[in-house]
Amino acid sequence: MAIAASLIDIVKEEMAKHNASKLLMVRVCYGKLTNLVPEALSFAFEVQTQQSPLEGAELELKEIPVTVTCGECSTEFTPEGTDLFCMPCPSCENLFGHTVLTGKELYLDHLEAE
Ligand SMILES: [Zn+2]
Repeated sequence: MAIAASLIDIVKEEMAKHNASKLLMVRVCYGKLTNLVPEALSFAFEVQTQQSPLEGAELELKEIPVTVTCGECSTEFTPEGTDLFCMPCPSCENLFGHTVLTGKELYLDHLEAE
């Protein structure tokens, strides 16, 4: 899984910067629209960190909900489901042209190492 590999690269870089030799925990925030499967990432992370200073670290995954602004009336809302093509606005029922505010993020939020 490519995401796990790039995550591990980032973690290693951060640890090198801080002269850390053992990873304790890492928290990743991911938007609902990234289609990331937390179980799959956890598993890939576990497998790919075996026999490395990252082995045994706790991987915490935090989901960021989707919020959009209606293209018609500018109402901010959280659509149900993740279908970008069917997000009825709660105030004007407009379906299209919304601006996605959150939900596409994927980043390393926090890291603990020693
Ligand atoms: Zn609207």
